[in-house]
Amino acid sequence: MSAVNGHAARKTPATRKARVLDVAIIGAGFSGLGTAIRLREQGITDIAILERGDDVGGTWRDNTYPGAACDIPSNLYSFSFAQNPRWSRGYSGSAEILDYVHHLVDRFELRPLMRFRHNVKGLEFDEARGAWTISIAGKRNVHARCVVAAQGPLANPSLPDIPGIDSFGGEVIHSARWDNDYDFDGKRVAVIGTGASAIQIVPELARRVDFLKVFQRTPAWILPRLDYSAPDWNKTLFDKWPASQTAVRNALFYAHEAMATGVIWNTPVTRLLEGLAKAFLRHQVPDAWVRRQLTPQYRIGCKRLLISNDYYPALMRDNVKLYDWPIDKICEKGIRSAEGIEHQVDCIVFATGFSVPKAAAPFPITGAGGRQLDNEWARGAAAYKSVNVAGYPNLFMTLGPNAGPGHNSALAYIEPQIDYIVQGIGTILEYDLRALDVRADAQAKHNAELQKRLARTNWNSGCSSWYLTEDGFNATMYPGFATQYRAQMKAFVNADYRAIRHNAEFSRTVDA
Ligand SMILES: Cc1cc2nc3c(=O)[nH]c(=O)nc-3n(C[C@H](O)[C@H](O)[C@H](O)COP(=O)(O)OP(=O)(O)OC[C@H]3O[C@@H](n4cnc5c(N)ncnc54)[C@H](O)[C@@H]3O)c2cc1C
Repeated sequence: MSAVNGHAARKTPATRKARVLDVAIIGAGFSGLGTAIRLREQGITDIAILERGDDVGGTWRDNTYPGAACDIPSNLYSFSFAQNPRWSRGYSGSAEILDYVHHLVDRFELRPLMRFRHNVKGLEFDEARGAWTISIAGKRNVHARCVVAAQGPLANPSLPDIPGIDSFGGEVIHSARWDNDYDFDGKRVAVIGTGASAIQIVPELARRVDFLKVFQRTPAWILPRLDYSAPDWNKTLFDKWPASQTAVRNALFYAHEAMATGVIWNTPVTRLLEGLAKAFLRHQVPDAWVRRQLTPQYRIGCKRLLISNDYYPALMRDNVKLYDWPIDKICEKGIRSAEGIEHQVDCIVFATGFSVPKAAAPFPITGAGGRQLDNEWARGAAAYKSVNVAGYPNLFMTLGPNAGPGHNSALAYIEPQIDYIVQGIGTILEYDLRALDVRADAQAKHNAELQKRLARTNWNSGCSSWYLTEDGFNATMYPGFATQYRAQMKAFVNADYRAIRHNAEFSRTVDA
């Protein structure tokens, strides 16, 4: 304490200090948890995982609707560094995947990093300090040198813009926020949407409800699901000889890569897949009228390709009917379709997907010089290798712009992103950088090439899908094989970045 005129200086109210973390990760799904695991393996341990929910699991914590399951075989939909020999099926259900996530958390001792009920509302970069301020709803700000935005592209359910949606007097359920207490037995139910979640929900509900009306806007291309119950000898084999599971995983990976040749680009394989899907439809749907309703008028791959063995048979049940008239409005007792019929129901299930941030930031993000990501992405999101955005130093994204897989496991994209992010964060911490910022020209070059390649894909062939913005800009998908994506993520090209050192020693605390 200093002395002024022989008296002790008056104490000013102590300023609260907040610690600056090395890394804050937003989201505790596969991406966030995997990033924490890999960072710790590299000796980076000053990490917090900010999760708005009260448990881990992301997609698989939130999607608990009946029939929820993965469309990618379990041996491929898991981390390569933490394979699970005990998957019970070829394609696991949501609950088993969630168990696997919990197993990861225990095995890699991630619980101490978790800060649940931390809903991130915005990020702001302090250029002078080289740190991000993270605002959290109803809580103190968190500060970190590096941020990993792993909040998932499919985390926020969306309702369609149908007039009267608030006037319905019955039960309303979104597929991603299932009400497991609602008793469907004997009820009159409408399902709106016929995408990936709907085709899993419909067969389950059809068995329980009095009648089910399925409202379709556009039919999907559907192929059979080659599922099986894993025999005990298989689990023992994988357990005792992990190399055998790796071999199966690799075979599955390359089989999915082969699908890309028909799903991503328009080739003879596209026609072959369409032929297979039409034969499957003919086999499962004897009614010519319903078959016509279910036959897509766009190229396979343009929208998400689905797999199911029990969706078409469910539509053939006496208590299920498919409607492809547009919905005019929702009223107090049900749904009015464009031909003027009011369908009275007890419950409406919205299987209408997610609000995907393809032309907006996931939450307000203020970068260097006060720039706003929302403004920069207003005409479509763009990044460098899906991970960094010029002007937003020390910020890394998983499943960012143009990282979407159309044909392979999301984890085949998430894993190389994580390894890339670990390299970036390692560089910032090792060289004590104030800012590591991708160069705008490198980002522009990367995107010009990406969009040129996207123009030749099935996604950009004319159908409307959640992959595209309203103007038809593809901000979501990666136009290539997962192998190519993995290869581009191997090298961290220093020349594509600007690195700025601290002027003075980095301060570990900040005024709160
Ligand atoms: C129903 C469904 C089925 C799917 N099936 C497949 C499939 O078959 N194959 C496939 O490859 N992929 C599939 N996916 C894609 C799936 O999302 C990814 O495979 C993967 O789970 C993404 O993991 P993630 O950690 O990036 O995101 P998520 O699993 O979405 O996790 C993100 C986490 O961030 C949290 N969060 C979000 N916003 C905030 C915030 N502001 N503040 C704090 N926390 C926040 C969320 O609560 C969540 O826990 C499916 C997705 C859905 C929704």
